[in-house]
Amino acid sequence: MKKISLIIAMIVTFSLSLNAFSLGKLGEFKFENVNKNVWIMHGPVMNPSVENEGFMNNPAIIEGKNSLIVIDPGGNYNVGKKIFAELEKVSKKPIVAIINTHKHGDHWFAGKVIKEKYPNVKSYGHTHMIEMVKNGEADLWYDILERLSKNLKGTNPFFFPDSNLDGTEVLTIDGETFKIFHPKRAHTDTDILVEHVNSKTLFLGDNLMKNRLGGFDDSSSIYGNIELLERIMAHEDGYTEYNLYVPGHGPSGKMHEAIDPFLTYMKIIVKGAEKAYEDGIQGYEAKPEVSQNLKAYHSWDAFDDQMGKHLSKAYSEVEAKDF
Ligand SMILES: [Zn+2]
Repeated sequence: MKKISLIIAMIVTFSLSLNAFSLGKLGEFKFENVNKNVWIMHGPVMNPSVENEGFMNNPAIIEGKNSLIVIDPGGNYNVGKKIFAELEKVSKKPIVAIINTHKHGDHWFAGKVIKEKYPNVKSYGHTHMIEMVKNGEADLWYDILERLSKNLKGTNPFFFPDSNLDGTEVLTIDGETFKIFHPKRAHTDTDILVEHVNSKTLFLGDNLMKNRLGGFDDSSSIYGNIELLERIMAHEDGYTEYNLYVPGHGPSGKMHEAIDPFLTYMKIIVKGAEKAYEDGIQGYEAKPEVSQNLKAYHSWDAFDDQMGKHLSKAYSEVEAKDF
């Protein structure tokens, strides 16, 4: 008898693990109830890869009375199906809205899975984000993510966000209130930050990362990103105190534990760039010295790949300021 119950227990465990969203040695991923009616699946804190199947962001669910709202659904159609299966374990209420924080495909491509299941879903993005993704940015990100993860099949034709935001809105969806912010230029020039008023959660998109460094592209401003995080911390520009700060990549947390590391990183980069400019040397020439000041970040994913680029980017911003 004992043997039989052991076998049953093993079968149950096995079938449960078959059902889990597992990424090899990266482990299993599921939505966790992080704050009131907010659920987040924190993705692997690393670049998109074959191993992570192109999943490395932080998709979130806000559970309303009758429906769900999703923020940043994920990086491609195929992995989106797995994220969606996990989402249904939280709740089978219909998804009525998706809010996309910015133009980068690793955050919004998986919305297509939701659109297939719920054709009436509204997908929100900043007006400039929607313009940019329709005018080449989606194709660019398709190519980047396909090269890195080889998992983009089915993602194109894209489900483009279809509901415009300008960053001044207060949306009420199924009794849940969302305050939308738009910093002109920070991680990109298409960002929105989303305050979920009911739970006091702030979703910062890629204006905040932890344990991983991502790129700053031509549309971004490191100065702008620093200023944004400082204003959030000072409760200026309409930002208030929140219970939880959610980065685009990396663990969520209280204000200082979530924001301080990335803010300090960017400040050290900018200081290094300013000093190099004053000393009449190029940004890259200051790299060894700046790297010394960033020892705490050497273990962050993509540090070696990104730090020099960030320094050059900051240097060009310093030059432009002086011009
Ligand atoms: Zn991004």
